[in-house]
Amino acid sequence: MTTENHKIEISALKKQYGDLVVLRDINLKVAQGSVVALIGPSGSGKSTLLRCMNLLVTPDAGRVRIGTDTFTFSKTSTLPSAKEQARFRSGTGMVFQHFNLFPHMTVLKNVMEGPVSAKGMPKAQAAELARGLLAKVGLADKADVHPQRLSGGQKQRVAIARALAMQPEVMLFDEATSALDPELVSEVLNVMKDLAAEGMTMIIVTHEIAFAREVADTVVFMRDGVIVEEGPAREVVDNPKEEATRSFLKHFH
Ligand code: ADP
Ligand code: MG
Repeated sequence: MTTENHKIEISALKKQYGDLVVLRDINLKVAQGSVVALIGPSGSGKSTLLRCMNLLVTPDAGRVRIGTDTFTFSKTSTLPSAKEQARFRSGTGMVFQHFNLFPHMTVLKNVMEGPVSAKGMPKAQAAELARGLLAKVGLADKADVHPQRLSGGQKQRVAIARALAMQPEVMLFDEATSALDPELVSEVLNVMKDLAAEGMTMIIVTHEIAFAREVADTVVFMRDGVIVEEGPAREVVDNPKEEATRSFLKHFH
């Protein structure tokens, strides 16, 4: 596959905190419209990797390309301007374990906020966009309520709508269902599955191995800041090549 078909390209990415090396030398390519499930034990660097892609964490070295935007990092280079960072960041929508919705705003306002304040979109247009996205995540009837009236699964679906409102090129999910009561997990996974079916390019950090096997094209197994194994989702889940992957997956049977 040629480079142009890759929506995301991460090259030689490194990050350490003091003496702790969190990302050793990460190389990862994600094809346009494909879904990568990133799995691995706690502390392996999954969140740090996603956060580097969103510049929430500044890598020590390496390169991140998303679409046509490239950022190169090194100890000596100066950081790009705030404006360039904001533009780069707007290419990715991120959904976290905790939803961080604005409690004082209605659901509709939560979804409208990004386009209005960061992009200067006219309010009427943002409201129309937000209503469409709320319908897409199955919450058209919740537009006018405040977040505290929603279940965890509903809040997370609002968080997904809010991320989509910025019209990102890629979506990054960091354990989006880990904080939910078990009966609320599937409604969020179903929204993610719909997005995948529509061709959204996504990286999903998850412990939902059955979901990863079913929905992801590629499963990437990380441990100690290294990509240990990477391959077609079913192959990696059903028949891992590496002993480390096998022993990690044993926890999920
Ligand atoms: P994962 O998401 O796979 O659980 P993380 O990326 O959150 O892993 O963390 C990887 C390692 O980096 C862990 O040992 C964690 O304690 C450490 N770490 C993460 N963020 C920081 C930080 N801001 N300062 C110091 N150490 C950090
Ligand atoms: Mg994490």
